[in-house]
Amino acid sequence: MKVGIGRELREGERRVAATPETAGQLVALGVEVLVEAGAGTESGYSDGAYADAGASVVPHLAVGELDVLCHVRPLTPAQASSLRSGTITIGLASPAAELETVSALAAAGVTAFALELVPRISRAQSMDALTSQALVAGYRIVLEAAIRFPRFFPLYMTAAGTIPPARVLVLGAGVAGLQAIGTAKRLGARVSAYDVRPASADEVTSMGGTFVHLDLDAVEGTGGYARELSEDRAVRQRELLAPHVAAADVLITTAAIPGRPAPLLVTSDMVAGMRAGSIVVDLAAESGGNVEGVVAGRDVPVPTTAGDGVVTLVGMKDAASAMPADASRLYAKNVANLLALMTADGIVAPDFADEVLAGACLTHDGKVTHAPTAAALE
Ligand code: NAD
Repeated sequence: MKVGIGRELREGERRVAATPETAGQLVALGVEVLVEAGAGTESGYSDGAYADAGASVVPHLAVGELDVLCHVRPLTPAQASSLRSGTITIGLASPAAELETVSALAAAGVTAFALELVPRISRAQSMDALTSQALVAGYRIVLEAAIRFPRFFPLYMTAAGTIPPARVLVLGAGVAGLQAIGTAKRLGARVSAYDVRPASADEVTSMGGTFVHLDLDAVEGTGGYARELSEDRAVRQRELLAPHVAAADVLITTAAIPGRPAPLLVTSDMVAGMRAGSIVVDLAAESGGNVEGVVAGRDVPVPTTAGDGVVTLVGMKDAASAMPADASRLYAKNVANLLALMTADGIVAPDFADEVLAGACLTHDGKVTHAPTAAALE
């Protein structure tokens, strides 16, 4: 059976869905692996390395002839429509945002597996691309802040004077937030963090951060995820966060609710109330933003209320893609592990009795099998 790895079409995407190492693993499963020339170049993986691993490097990937297509970003509707019935796709699908592609996949009779839907159970951890990519993003956003920050992160005591450590506040302590805490801590900052899930307090502490307790009732949904706050509680949350934001030199926001727009945690007034030179990096910029006024992919200067300078509001975009070599290394493993789960003796045949495959399936047999996405399409 033919498994294809193409060049990513979405602008700004530098990752690739297979590395030479995972291409070799797929070949060992007994499938034929076709890699489009240049697919790994931006991640630092050469065509020659794929060929050495046993893949066939082709100048152009004819997706209509594939049995399986592995990808990073969601396919475009046109790509989805060009697949033949029965093709299997594996990759990130952003089902809530890419409804047109989901419809095209179903209409084409494609069996699409969305990595966002892989159940978060122990057995599926090696296929959990949300976690692997959030780890990369959480590291990267702190570096983006540190580069823009006009001061040091660590404490320095020198003959020429003492430099106090930067105060970093992280809002949202999921996978990305915890990595951000650890990274800021390794750079020497004084780090505090808040999450609406009280269970995250111990994790924040274990990463070296100080947990910020707000006088707000716990809000936990199912599966360890947060739920959306009612509007009056969201307002209260922002009021309670305001003094902590004002005291921070660097603010990192990573809060998210699965399938929903990002919660608004910080208003423009709160940003303007920070000290001149402060940096705000919003990882949720692409899904609506945790910070009012954020623009994905841009740095917005916000004049301070004190009138003495600006705060830089960074709308993070493609954070994991900014570190394509390691992001791809982890992502490609997630893809290869999911493909291995549905392959035996060179035949790819998903068994939907397996809860991981059933859970991750977005479209099959002409239907949208993921109930919330099907409902959104009605
Ligand atoms: P996420 O990306 O969905 O959200 C990031 C964080 O934002 C979460 O911690 C969430 O609680 C927080 N948040 C949401 N609304 C907020 C608000 N109004 N104010 C402050 N914070 C808010 O989260 P994630 O990184 O995917 O992690 C979510 C959960 O899944 C965690 O409990 C994590 O431990 C768990 N998880 C489990 C597995 C596994 O079992 N394999 C893997 C990864 C994560």
